Amino acid sequence: MKVSVDPDRCQGHARCWDICPEVFDLDEQGHGTVTLPEVPARLEAKVSDAVANCPERAIVIG
Ligand code: SF4
Repeated sequence: MKVSVDPDRCQGHARCWDICPEVFDLDEQGHGTVTLPEVPARLEAKVSDAVANCPERAIVIG
């Protein structure tokens, strides 16, 4: 699984980071960033949970 955050959609609610800090971080403006774009299998469920909980639908899985 690959993951990224669409910076045009992200509004900085930080839910991604709350749910999976192993993969997501926040930049200086509080917007979501990805520190581990190639998600290991053991973290896929948490990333899927983050996708479901992003209010802006800004997390892209590919
Ligand atoms: S949960 Fe969504 S809107 Fe909030 S910081 Fe993460 S990617 Fe951005």
